[in-house]
Amino acid sequence: MKYFSTRGGSQELSFEETVLTGLAPNGGLYIPTSIPSLPENWKNDWKDYSFVDLSVAVLSLYISREEISESDLRSLVVKSYAGFRHPKVTPLKKLGEKKYVLELWHGPTWAFKDVALQLLGNLFEFFLKRRNERNPAAKEKLTVVGATSGDTGSAAIYGLRNKANISIFILHPKGRVSPIQEAQMTTVTDANVHNLAVKGTFDDCQDIVKALFADTQFNSKYRLGAVNSINWARILAQTVYYFLAYFDLRRAVGADATADVEVQFVVPTGNFGDILAGYYARKMGLPMAGKLGVATNANDILARFWKTGRYEKADSSPTNNAAAPSMEPAAGSSDGKQATDASGVKETHSPAMDILVSSNFERLLWYLAFEALPEHSGADRHKAGETVSGWMSKMKSDGRVEVPTSVLEIARKDFCAERVSDEETLETIKSHFLGTPSYVVDPHTAVGLFAAARMAQHNPPSINQIILSTAHPAKFSEAVSTALQDTKEFDFDSQVMPEEFNGLLQKERRVVDVESADIELVKRVIEERVTSHVAISLYLQL
Ligand SMILES: *Cc1c(COP(=O)(O)O)cnc(C)c1O
Repeated sequence: MKYFSTRGGSQELSFEETVLTGLAPNGGLYIPTSIPSLPENWKNDWKDYSFVDLSVAVLSLYISREEISESDLRSLVVKSYAGFRHPKVTPLKKLGEKKYVLELWHGPTWAFKDVALQLLGNLFEFFLKRRNERNPAAKEKLTVVGATSGDTGSAAIYGLRNKANISIFILHPKGRVSPIQEAQMTTVTDANVHNLAVKGTFDDCQDIVKALFADTQFNSKYRLGAVNSINWARILAQTVYYFLAYFDLRRAVGADATADVEVQFVVPTGNFGDILAGYYARKMGLPMAGKLGVATNANDILARFWKTGRYEKADSSPTNNAAAPSMEPAAGSSDGKQATDASGVKETHSPAMDILVSSNFERLLWYLAFEALPEHSGADRHKAGETVSGWMSKMKSDGRVEVPTSVLEIARKDFCAERVSDEETLETIKSHFLGTPSYVVDPHTAVGLFAAARMAQHNPPSINQIILSTAHPAKFSEAVSTALQDTKEFDFDSQVMPEEFNGLLQKERRVVDVESADIELVKRVIEERVTSHVAISLYLQL
């Protein structure tokens, strides 16, 4: 299996090169030359597979044996999921009649990004080790630099901690991330992990990281690397739980080996990685009677795309335009205003989905462009790349692009989309706490649950919904406490806080204070702590 760029060109990469390169030189994202179909007897042969077995089975279809042998692949996968607290890794839980959640947060940082980043860290280590064995003079190393507002940095840290030939530097705004999130990051004391607490805002941290990548002198000396959300290995790792959930649902409803279950997956979405993995599973042949449900918060570029066919940063439709952001009704915040940062991103109760554009959406755009072409030949593959390249440059220059109706129709065959407000998010947390079974959800999962309920109104009654649950509620205590503050029976510490968090705040920390948001200070920290150069360059975005 080879990989090529969504923006065309003749470059074809191996899986290893794809994982180590991240972003294509022409700005595109890598996708496989074809989507493999499932082996003939998969429904029977795979039905009792564990998460690890399914990972090996699915990943093998995308990685040639010559690149990673099956036994190496199995040990990488075993190692990646050994630290998950639940024996199923991603268990399915019934919440109601034909309504299930797929809990993706049983990994080390209690959020779904662990599923992909645990594997990515092991893949990085495996490839670097092998390259250095083959060419000892190269001494290839990877230095990863990133900024976090709190919710995603820890997954990268836990994915890369203690990995040979890799150092990771994560900047966070000092005192501006939640105490639990800060503790999750800074109590990792491995020598290759460097937390930088920067006196400033998240935007300051982000700006410093961007400036480091743009600083050609510094970058050519240290060859910075990254664990971006567009890395192909992350998408691939996430396809596995769609298969596991399908088999678990079949068991849950007591379907026999021949009878299928009707299922719709609904996914709280930001950078379109999690749900894109579901799209690959669907295209490989996993039966999904319902459309994939895109659930967004107020940062609704994707929900607007499915409504209008326009992919645009700012909402330009006449009805919504009438209400300028400052006049919008309260979306959960008490003063009736929703804060918007300098770039136009709205701050919501589901911060891991606060995005302006969805980086992985470009991959879907390629498939839409390709499907709209008549022959699906090699020449069409080339043409689709040109189309996407045109759309993305229009997006860059105008902040918007409109796809033809024929393309939008193709997108609507596989997906439906809903936008969920902060108020609706909080209501959903409350109604599930008061429901039977009583279940405390985090605000991202709540966005998925609310969207699913709306989508269910258009579904035939035979459809089961599986909502992907992306974080444990303890990680987002503020939203959960706000939603449940008036509920008599609710006590955060006894009902939400996992035992494992006990004592976390008191544990030993390892963090470097950076006294002001000054790139030179950050450079100095990296220079002191990186002992040698790295020969791989990637682009960073968490
Ligand atoms: C990253 C994240 C999401 C969004 O996932 P995408 O792959 O970016 O769509 C949703 N919920 C949580 C808790 C996350 O961390």
